[in-house]
Amino acid sequence: MARRPIIAGNWKMNNNKAQAKELTDGIMYGVSQLDAAKMPEVILAPTYTALWQVYDLIKNEPKLSLAAQNVNPNPSGAYTGEISLDMLEDFKVKYVIIGHSERRQMFGETDEFINEKALAILEKGLIPIICCGETLEQREQGVTDAHLKKQITLAFKGISAQDAKKSVIAYEPIWAIGTGKSCDAIEANRTIGEIRKVIKDLYDSSVSDEIRILYGGSVKPSTIVEQMAQPEIDGGLIGGASLKADSFLDLIKGAM
Ligand code: 13P
Repeated sequence: MARRPIIAGNWKMNNNKAQAKELTDGIMYGVSQLDAAKMPEVILAPTYTALWQVYDLIKNEPKLSLAAQNVNPNPSGAYTGEISLDMLEDFKVKYVIIGHSERRQMFGETDEFINEKALAILEKGLIPIICCGETLEQREQGVTDAHLKKQITLAFKGISAQDAKKSVIAYEPIWAIGTGKSCDAIEANRTIGEIRKVIKDLYDSSVSDEIRILYGGSVKPSTIVEQMAQPEIDGGLIGGASLKADSFLDLIKGAM
C-alpha cells in the first residue's frame, strides 16, 4: 500500500505574529498553485503563540494541516506553562510532535513521558509525530540501531496496532539537526528500514507497511529529491528550511 508522503515544517522557537503571518501567507499562495492530487500532506508546526493565527489563516485550505510542537498529557490542572490536548483541539490541531531531541536533551523528557504523551494524543484522536535519533557518539560507537529500537519500543508501549498505523515517526539523527550536514540518503534509508523492522516486530507487517516514517536533519531543497527517492523515507520533518516560504515550497515540490 502506498504511503502518502509528508512534508512537515517545525518552526521551533521562531516567528512572532507578523513573521508567522508572512510565512503562512507565502506558503498559502504557493500551495494554491499546486495540484492537490500530487501534493504530499503538508503540515505546519508553529509555536503555541502563533497557533491561533495560523489556524485562522489555513482553516479553509485543505492542502495544509496544523501540528503542535509539544503537549502536556494531563487533561488540565496545575501545570504552569503547559498546554493540554483540549486546548490544541480548539485550533483543529491534527498532529503533535513529541520526543524531539531538543526536548529530550534540554528539557529532560524521558521515553516514559513521551509514551504518556503518545497515548494521550491518540486517545484524543490526534496523531503523534514521534521523534527518535542518535547522538554522534552513539553513531560512532555503532549503537545507533539498538538505541533507536529502545526509543521506539518504549514510545509505542501500550499503543494498539490500529493507533500505531496512523502514527508518524520522524528519524532525526541529532548530529544532523541544524548542522547543515544531512545524513546520507542511503544511510537514512537503511536506518529507517531498521526502524520499520522494529515496528514489524512489535506489531506485524500490516502496521510496518502503513506507518509513515520521516527523515529530519538539515533537509534542504538540494537534498529532498534524493531523500524522497528512497523507498523507506516517507517525507521530511524540517526545521531551518521551513522558515522561508520559498524553500519550504521547494521542499513540497521536491516531494511531488
Ligand atoms: P533542521 O532542518 O534545521 O536541521 O531541523 C530538523 C529538525 O529538528 C526538525 O524537527
